[in-house]
Amino acid sequence: MTAKVVLAIAIASLSASALAQTPPSPAEAMAAAMREQAKAPVAVKSLRGGAYEVTGGTSNTGFIVGDTGVIAIDPQMLAPVAQREQAAIAQITPKPVNVMILTHADPDHVNGLPGWPSGMRIIAHENAAAEIRSYMGDPNVFASPPPPEIKDYLPTETIRFSKDEVLDGVRVRLIHLGPAHTDGDVVVYLPDQKIVYAGDLVVTEGDNYPSVHVMPSGPHKGMGEALNKHGSSLGWIKTVKAILALDADIYVGGHGPVLTKAELQARLDAAVARRAQIKAMFDQGMTLDQVKAGLHEPAVTPGRFPSFTETTYQELTYE
Ligand SMILES: [Zn+2]
Repeated sequence: MTAKVVLAIAIASLSASALAQTPPSPAEAMAAAMREQAKAPVAVKSLRGGAYEVTGGTSNTGFIVGDTGVIAIDPQMLAPVAQREQAAIAQITPKPVNVMILTHADPDHVNGLPGWPSGMRIIAHENAAAEIRSYMGDPNVFASPPPPEIKDYLPTETIRFSKDEVLDGVRVRLIHLGPAHTDGDVVVYLPDQKIVYAGDLVVTEGDNYPSVHVMPSGPHKGMGEALNKHGSSLGWIKTVKAILALDADIYVGGHGPVLTKAELQARLDAAVARRAQIKAMFDQGMTLDQVKAGLHEPAVTPGRFPSFTETTYQELTYE
């Protein structure tokens, strides 16, 4: 595309939005930002022992080369991006992708499923599987409802508790220790490779504090029920402590670069300290705005999601 064409499109869309006079809802703005992000090129990074990370697109994907096929972790938000990822995987191995593990049910991690081979074994936590089903046909899911084809890509097996498995010759521990980022999280631990794929329990772009999906309020209210996944800051702390105790030294998150154990420990320490500050102010009867001011946070939280302060404050009101 020439610069002139890009400019013409930009002007056209500017005047269209000026005419419309309605600012996008938080969900629409987020969906637009995600579509923009999805244009990024994908890149495969070798981690260790046949395990890889694919970056680019809307979220990270992991994969491990098994005996007969590839075990993938998180299928992206958009099918075309999923297909670009598979082209990148095909540069590493000719084996087909026949197992997919979902770390949770957020649209940016799930909606790309129909871009993958049909007939895959798809593993998810039972709460995530229920959330995916509940989004089908719901146009209000972050303004990103799942595509209709997802009906042919529903999880084929679910877990409730942590579980050790051998998937296509690869030792895997699927870890769920209760609600954390959402109530349907699955952390994938590879004991032989000493790698943890943590999904959005670890997000290393944007805010340094945990992303916890509870019922959105304030300016993020427009995201509605879709963001109400019963996440928990205490659960996040518990689960991250548990994955730090594993014999692992590479932590792959759902977005952003991988972390070492020391880097994840630093994030845990920061979250524990921040939660204690929020709770102390909450216990003094301070309002959310007062707490945010006390922590030198902007009154209106920038970015896609409520801040850790907002979600933790909201959790505290439930107690
Ligand atoms: Zn998420």
